[in-house]
Amino acid sequence: MRRRDFLKCATGTAGAIAAAASGLSKPAIARDTKELKLVTSWPRDFPGLGTTASRLARRISDMSGGRYTVKLFAGGELVQPLDCLDAVQHGTADLYHSAEYYYQNKTKAFNFFAAIPFGLSAGEMNAWIYHGGGQELWNELGRRNGVKPLMAGNTGSQMGGWFRTEIESLADFKGLRMRIPGLGGAVLAKLGGKVVNIAGGEVYGALKAGTLDASEWVGPWNDLAMGFYKVADFYYYPGFHEPGTVLSFGLNATFWDSLPPGDKAMFEAAAAAENDITLAEYTARNAAALEVLIDTHGVELMRYPRDVLRAVGQAAGEVVLESTEADPLAKRIYDSYIKFRATAIGWSKRSDQAFWSARLLPFKYG
Ligand code: CA
Repeated sequence: MRRRDFLKCATGTAGAIAAAASGLSKPAIARDTKELKLVTSWPRDFPGLGTTASRLARRISDMSGGRYTVKLFAGGELVQPLDCLDAVQHGTADLYHSAEYYYQNKTKAFNFFAAIPFGLSAGEMNAWIYHGGGQELWNELGRRNGVKPLMAGNTGSQMGGWFRTEIESLADFKGLRMRIPGLGGAVLAKLGGKVVNIAGGEVYGALKAGTLDASEWVGPWNDLAMGFYKVADFYYYPGFHEPGTVLSFGLNATFWDSLPPGDKAMFEAAAAAENDITLAEYTARNAAALEVLIDTHGVELMRYPRDVLRAVGQAAGEVVLESTEADPLAKRIYDSYIKFRATAIGWSKRSDQAFWSARLLPFKYG
């Protein structure tokens, strides 16, 4: 090799090494780390909802060893709280944490993946989604809207809500101005009530001013923090309208399709973990907060009368069926859900429900 050629070659090699070295530093990190935008429907770190979204974001970063970092946007920061699905569908964000019933204006089919009045409990929702064909139907609905959906949280059974007056008969719903979203609101409207759509932050003032007669919210943990006990005397149960509301995690469908199987499994595992942990947190904190509401604040707990519940249930059955008429996919989802519900009731009344009744018998324990 002539000296000139050697220098040329060496220089070239050195250049290649330099390029490779720099390629191993900044560009390598850039190539192996992807920042994902997560939009949510919740105020930042709002107890139970916002904290769940934050925990999910951290878990994805941790589980991936930093290959993914998740940048969380609270409701309103990147998009409006109820525009999360659109944002992920159109690529403004990669991920969302929300509740599917916020998207029922697209199709009422979404309600089945959040909450249905007199529908499935949290445990039964898990059963239907994971083992009863629910996830496959949800995937189909998600695909139609450009997202891959997963469960990532559950509030458990909610409370009926806060009322300024007593509910003694069905007639008491007539003209009742109540904040109750989704299909629960449609049931109230069918019974002659007036559904009031206001943001959560406005509910306290409206109850206090008397422009609102009643409002549901979530359960004792969140309701205590909102201070509703100061402006409404009666706290009703059970929350027939939201028996186990699923919080959902949506991934942009194109992003999901691009993932290797290991990453898909990781996102599924992160969401499934959060699904359990959120429900456990709600169970623990609701129980403690209920004691505070009763013992510290003297809140009067009221159970809806049996004949009221039966009539509301009848109306709910009609409302839920009617809601699926415009969309063949919604009707298929309805059929699957209703069939599963009937089978689940056959088991639950001989298992959990029977046990819970047995546990309330007046014997001394501990
Ligand atoms: Ca609610």
